[in-house]
Amino acid sequence: KAFPSQKKDVKSKVRFGDVAGLEQAKAEVVEFVDFLKSPTKYEKLGARVPKGGLFVGPPGTGKTLLAKAVAGEADCPFYSMSGSDFVEMYVGVGASRVRDLFKQARDSAPSIIFIDEIDAIGRKRGKGGFTGGNDERESTLNQMLVEMDGFTSSTGVVVLAGTNRVDILDNALLRPGRFDRQIAIDKPDMAEREKIYMVHLKPVKLEGNLKQEDIAKRMAALTPGFAGADIANVCNEAAIFAARRKGDSVTMDDFERATERVIGGLPKTNSLMS
Ligand code: ATP
Repeated sequence: KAFPSQKKDVKSKVRFGDVAGLEQAKAEVVEFVDFLKSPTKYEKLGARVPKGGLFVGPPGTGKTLLAKAVAGEADCPFYSMSGSDFVEMYVGVGASRVRDLFKQARDSAPSIIFIDEIDAIGRKRGKGGFTGGNDERESTLNQMLVEMDGFTSSTGVVVLAGTNRVDILDNALLRPGRFDRQIAIDKPDMAEREKIYMVHLKPVKLEGNLKQEDIAKRMAALTPGFAGADIANVCNEAAIFAARRKGDSVTMDDFERATERVIGGLPKTNSLMS
C-alpha cells in the first residue's frame, strides 16, 4: 500500500552542510544522529532515549530539510508524511496509515519518521467537534500516541515533526517520551539569508562579471522576511527569467524581477517583515 505523500525507504542524501544557518537547531539535533548511529550505547547506559523532536517555526524555514539532514547524517531511511493527508479521510484510514508508517520504520530501524504539519492531526482534542473529520483526527492522533508509547530504547526510531502552531497542539503530544523536545526553527536574519543564497546560487550560471558572494550579500539585503524556501524560489525564478529571454547567463536584473515575482506570491505579512 503506497500512500501519496509518504516517500518510501529513501536514504536521504541531505547533510548538515546543505542546511544553511540554523546553527542552534543543528546543535540540538546532533544527539538524534548519535542515537540513530549507535542506539545500543544509550540502551546499555540506561539512558532515556530522545524519541521525538518538534521543529517549531514558520513555513519554508527548513524543518523538512533539517529532518532529512538528520537522516542523511545518520545514514538511515527517512519516512515522511504530512498531517494534512489525514484531513478529510475516511474513518479508520488515518489510524491505519499511522500504523503502517510506524511499522515500516520499525522494520528498517534505525530510521526516522518525519510528520510535517503535525497540527493538522495533533490539534487539542475535545473542543467543539462533532464532525466526522474530528473523530477521524482524534483516532489518528491516538494511534500516533500509542505507537510512540510503544517504543523502547531498542526500537531505534526517532520521530520528528514540524509545526508552525505549537500553541494549538494537544498537550498529550508534548508529554515526556513523546515530542518532549522543541526546537525552534526561525526565519533567517540577514547573515543567514546570505548563507542560504550561497547554497541556492551554486547551480545558477551567473553573468560573467557577477560573483556569487556579491549577489548573495546584495540579495540578502533586498529580501528581509524571506524564508529559505522563498530564497530557493528566487534563485530558480531568476534562472527561469534568463531562460525566457534566451539569455545564456543570469543577470542582476533577472534576480530583481524574480524577487518581485516571489514577493507578489507571498502573503502580505510575510513580504516586508524580518
Ligand atoms: P513547511 O513548514 O512549509 O513544510 P519547511 O520548514 O519544512 O516548510 P522545507 O520544506 O524544509 O521547509 O524548505 C523548503 C526548501 O527551502 C528546502 O528544500 C530548501 O531548498 C529551502 N530551504 C529552506 N531553509 C533552508 C536552509 N536553512 N538552508 C538551505 N535551504 C533552505
